[in-house]
Amino acid sequence: MSGPSPSERGPQFEAWDRAHVWHPFTPHSVYADEDPLMVVAAEGHELIAADGQRYLDGVSSIWCASFGHRRAELDTALADQAGRLAHATFLGNASAPGVALAKRLSDLAPGGLTRVFYSDDGSTAVEAALKIAVQFHLQTDAPERDTFLTLGNAYHGDTVGAVSLGGIPLFHERYKAVVFETAEASPPACYRCPWDKDPATCALECVDGFRAAVAEHGPRLAAVVLESGFQGAGGIVPLPDGYLAAAAQAAHEAGALVILDEVASGMGRTGHMFACEAEPTAVEPDLLCLAKGLTGGMLPLAATLATERVFEAFLGPPEEGRTFFHGHTFTGNALGSAVALAALDLLERGGVLAGVAQRAAWLAARLEGLVGMSGVGDVRQRGLMAGVELVADRASRESYPVAERRGMSVCSAARERGVFLRPLGDVIVLCPPLTITEEEVQRLVDAVAAGIREVCADGV
Ligand code: PMP
Repeated sequence: MSGPSPSERGPQFEAWDRAHVWHPFTPHSVYADEDPLMVVAAEGHELIAADGQRYLDGVSSIWCASFGHRRAELDTALADQAGRLAHATFLGNASAPGVALAKRLSDLAPGGLTRVFYSDDGSTAVEAALKIAVQFHLQTDAPERDTFLTLGNAYHGDTVGAVSLGGIPLFHERYKAVVFETAEASPPACYRCPWDKDPATCALECVDGFRAAVAEHGPRLAAVVLESGFQGAGGIVPLPDGYLAAAAQAAHEAGALVILDEVASGMGRTGHMFACEAEPTAVEPDLLCLAKGLTGGMLPLAATLATERVFEAFLGPPEEGRTFFHGHTFTGNALGSAVALAALDLLERGGVLAGVAQRAAWLAARLEGLVGMSGVGDVRQRGLMAGVELVADRASRESYPVAERRGMSVCSAARERGVFLRPLGDVIVLCPPLTITEEEVQRLVDAVAAGIREVCADGV
């Protein structure tokens, strides 16, 4: 294996890490105490740390390494492409892998999403969608449509436009002074359903709130922006079946565009290529954002898919200035695009997508065993994405005090059992590779269960 051998370089890396790195979403006052992994290699579904220990990657390296690590087909695609072209600008120009990927995504995408605008990450895919929506209305004689409707508890990324759409106070509130205002509807929250419904009695009462928000802001709405399938960073909260379709319909009836954020939920995560395809009636977004699993987590590449109707609003003689004046240096990157094509091959021809339902069923069966455990309030799942919410009191659904960091403690306990996880507060996130085996599912959930037993024994 190339690269530094763990015994040679591990301790040195740790010292450099402590001294020089500023980690994202990481409280550095406790970072070193929480014994972070120093990953030096990976193989299959496992990360290999500097001390040689192996850890099952239970979060697919934050929801992107869909095929695990060092998957031969992706490695080969990368090496082959590197031998031809790493990158050539897409600004007023083209390179072959990005073009081939655009064709492939257009053929696969729901509705009439036939145009692909590339960027680098989930946040940038969302930023592009926002600016496209605003400019679309300016160029279709509806300049008054300058407002976005979002959901509470939403997360769409960390750049300022994406933060403007966010609805998670801990992440978003402090940037109030620099973000733009949005309209916000209450999100569906089945575990703490405000209408006291359960799946058997649910009549999608929560959609009424969304419809009311659409009605209130209708003529000013540029677009509604929704995480498709589940709210991810908000705690892996699945949208009830039918919510997305109803919300999209309401938005379209009001003349707003529909932007779906499938950064986390797209590319097979839910068992469908696109999460919105699970809806009982067709959802036809105007813009759809993809990233993370687009390259099987190997390289940063994102895509904002648009309909031809949206694209046409940007056509006209250059001097009219209808152009979309937006684009990043690495837009349409050849290496990323080549790897994304290989990832699509695996999903489609390699049978990975078809296998997600079976793997999700294994996960569901194992997660059943957590229900009723002390400290476990809710177990929720969409395909191969699951959240286990820890609560101090199961009857009242009261959360643990934030300072106790129970979620983090459960993940640390799972680490001691050879499973790498990263929680969202007190929600334990299970987002395994789409290729996880049955034995690994068992290993994953056993480690979570053992961690919960260790950390939440005092729960009621
Ligand atoms: N949208 C959603 C739904 C996400 O879950 C994320 C990242 N977790 C983003 C956007 C932002 O993606 P990135 O971190 O690649 O910018």
